[in-house]
Amino acid sequence: MEPRDLSDHTEYVAGQGIEEVARELGREPDELVKLASNENPHGPSPAAVEAIQDLAPAVHHYPKSAHTDLTAVLAEKWAVEPPQIWLSPGGDGALDYLARAMLEPGDAVLVPDPGFAYYEMSARFHHGRVNRYEIDGEDFSLTPDTVLDAYDGERIVYLTSPHNPTGSRFSVAAIREIADRTDEDTLLVVDEAYGEFATGTSARTLLGNRDDIAVLRTFSKAYGLAGLRLGYAIVPEAWASAYARVNTPFAASSIACHAGLAALEDDRHVDRTVETVEWARAYMRAEIDAPVHESHGNFVMVEVGDGTTVADELRERGIIIRDLTSFGLPEYVRITAGTESETKQAVSALNEVLTT
Ligand SMILES: *Cc1c(COP(=O)(O)O)cnc(C)c1O
Repeated sequence: MEPRDLSDHTEYVAGQGIEEVARELGREPDELVKLASNENPHGPSPAAVEAIQDLAPAVHHYPKSAHTDLTAVLAEKWAVEPPQIWLSPGGDGALDYLARAMLEPGDAVLVPDPGFAYYEMSARFHHGRVNRYEIDGEDFSLTPDTVLDAYDGERIVYLTSPHNPTGSRFSVAAIREIADRTDEDTLLVVDEAYGEFATGTSARTLLGNRDDIAVLRTFSKAYGLAGLRLGYAIVPEAWASAYARVNTPFAASSIACHAGLAALEDDRHVDRTVETVEWARAYMRAEIDAPVHESHGNFVMVEVGDGTTVADELRERGIIIRDLTSFGLPEYVRITAGTESETKQAVSALNEVLTT
């Protein structure tokens, strides 16, 4: 037998792992600098690490109360009702739940190009069709017309703000305008995976009296818990109860929930992370000898000419960055904000490569 026709489906291309590259180069992982996956340069919150260790002897229990506790804390943080928090395995899991809740077979979605690959994958898993809106390659700015020029009544429209990989963002006013000018039955999913690194307000502020916006958040970036797979959507009250009918039971593990609770209380770790990112973004813009786009995320996109060659040459020097060919941007690379020393090493190696 065969699986269903998956010929339209694409594989997710992740940034290379540090062990993988170390093996290929015949070096130790700790000799390498990995700035390819927008991970937290300071690692996880120490409070989260302690919570994970403390919970180990209790993992024979299902995470019922941990789920409830984390949901309650997040609901308070965002000033919404607990059912409006849809916990999930990573932000990616919440994308699946939203697609499950919204799509009938054959419904279309509208995704950004270039953009995050999982929107499209998730829509296809749920028997959706995929249309694209193009982000203008001059300055990669995100305006209502960027989306509305391509909009054709799709059931879900995905907005990434701050955007991966360009670092640009939508204003809250632009998001409101898009919501106003799309059909009543079109859901805007506003992906704020990098929200902590941007100034200004969350699209959560638009939820109050509307039922056509959902906001995605994750513990993978600012909270440094990418390996645990914990994220959530904040959804309108009107249809929040659908969660119970679409989620995979115990969407987030007990370890993830406890670590998430601890990380949420550890303001110092998030503040320090954001400070480092702000420093690294500014440093990279000032020091890299190539055009660096303004970024509101924990990474910058750099126009280098031949992204694959530049990324390969940096790799030889022990620095792993993301070549953006899989995003359809072969002339660009994306570099995650590292610690001060990692960032300086990366910039100096990149400048060396750029002049040779
Ligand atoms: C990292 C990321 C996510 C979520 O990742 P998870 O690890 O699944 O939480 C969502 N959207 C974008 C654009 C991202 O870059």
